[in-house]
Amino acid sequence: MSHALQRRRALESMRRPDLAFSGENPCDADPMLIRAALHHGAPAGQECPVCASERMLVLNYTFGDQLGQFSGRIKSREELEEMETQFGEFTVRVVEVCPDCRWNLLIETYVLGDGRRRRPPRRQQTVEDIY
Ligand SMILES: [Zn+2]
Repeated sequence: MSHALQRRRALESMRRPDLAFSGENPCDADPMLIRAALHHGAPAGQECPVCASERMLVLNYTFGDQLGQFSGRIKSREELEEMETQFGEFTVRVVEVCPDCRWNLLIETYVLGDGRRRRPPRRQQTVEDIY
């Protein structure tokens, strides 16, 4: 599955309204998503493909059986690195969000984990516990 292709199609269909746009309007980010991006998002490192805003953000959503109640949470890149050694397998969905024009799109999906099957969460020691 190529998210890059989906992204290009979404952008193309916005520039060419004559093309039937299949799917949702990519500039209709839910207010909740905008708020989440402003609080938890990391700078996208590139400008918005629609309005050229430099405030574009990316969010990492994590999903997986082994995450138990924490499935669906937003995680920072640092947290993902920690989680990679704490869980056997989980999926990360990367969404880019522009707080200015409300462009939003799933740009990447990947699987992380050390491959060892675990029971859903119990308390794990983190860097914060050590220092
Ligand atoms: Zn934008």
